[in-house]
Amino acid sequence: MTATMIPLVNLKRQHVFLEAEISEAIAGVIAANAFIGGKEVTAFEDEFAHYCGTDHCVGVANGTDALIIALTALGVGRGDQVVTTATSYFATAEAIGRVGAEPIFCDIDPDTAIFDIGLLEQLVTSSTKAIVVVHLYGRPAQMDHILDVAQRRGLFIIEDCAQAAGATFGGKRVGSLGDIGCYSFYPSKNLGAMGDAGAIVTNNQELALKCRKLANHGGIERYEHGLVGFNSRLDGLQAAILRIKLAHLDEWNQQRKKIVRHYRELLDDPHVDHLTYPENEDHVHHLFVVRVSDRDQLMHDMHGLKIGTAVHYPVPLPFLPPYGESGFGAGDFPQASQHAKTAISLPIFPLMKEEEVRRVAEALKKLANAKS
Ligand SMILES: *Cc1c(COP(=O)(O)O)cnc(C)c1O
Repeated sequence: MTATMIPLVNLKRQHVFLEAEISEAIAGVIAANAFIGGKEVTAFEDEFAHYCGTDHCVGVANGTDALIIALTALGVGRGDQVVTTATSYFATAEAIGRVGAEPIFCDIDPDTAIFDIGLLEQLVTSSTKAIVVVHLYGRPAQMDHILDVAQRRGLFIIEDCAQAAGATFGGKRVGSLGDIGCYSFYPSKNLGAMGDAGAIVTNNQELALKCRKLANHGGIERYEHGLVGFNSRLDGLQAAILRIKLAHLDEWNQQRKKIVRHYRELLDDPHVDHLTYPENEDHVHHLFVVRVSDRDQLMHDMHGLKIGTAVHYPVPLPFLPPYGESGFGAGDFPQASQHAKTAISLPIFPLMKEEEVRRVAEALKKLANAKS
């Protein structure tokens, strides 16, 4: 018997389901000849701001640009330090470096894989200008504590919401809690475009206007260039597609929660180490990550059973080549290092079937137990 492949993410299922609607929307953009800006972009920005509970949304070209533009608009640059997590996708640190600032990495809390709020304040110096919070894997960070530190120390908070579209903290959407929120709509994110796309959300009108100008060559009107900006705009086709998908985001996130509940029941096993999932938050499970020993061999064996897995992320950010000069060594960032060695992401996507969850869980359990 040859089992079918269960990939880490299968976008085809949601696309088959939405195909007619998406085709119609694409035809509408072509008919309107509105490829950069236009009605779909404005409508998506309004709908996404409303969804996030913020006054403003500025569509941009991708999530990395959202971070770069947000940091630039806040005036973060050369000579400034920005505290962020040791465990994230490279773009989080890259954006800080791109504006000329220095990322200061914070080790993670092993229970959550999010930066350890107990260590956070010790990293703040007189040069610290901002904190970039990452709602990693779809889990909202402990924003009450982070806001308290930021307020006391006079720091900006940028929320990297790339993995957490739909997540809430204390009843508020991520991105609406700090000074500014940055979203990626990379295709595999919880809200994904069919290409690169991103957005910035904020309640600060002045900041929103500055971001909008920065994203469009420094001005709103044609040939207005009051600032040296970027060319980083959300395009009409992506906006039209995102509007359709936004209407399904909550339902898809509910499906992710159900899949995780199922996984956790099936994977209640001494050889499978789970992250914790506290009560006072709304996790949207962009990724489902557990920790196992002998992880690389296990991934190889899972692949042999036609189950796709991945590692988020194999190297903690401070150990990547751009930060090689910083003098970190073995023993630094012990929690992020241990997590990087043992973390494995299992398949999760909306419309994943119950029998697929079972097949993945049973394979992992069997392999993890055979190794011990
Ligand atoms: C995906 C991602 C980004 C970058 O988004 P792009 O749209 O790919 O530029 C930034 N931060 C995190 C945590 C991400 O997962």
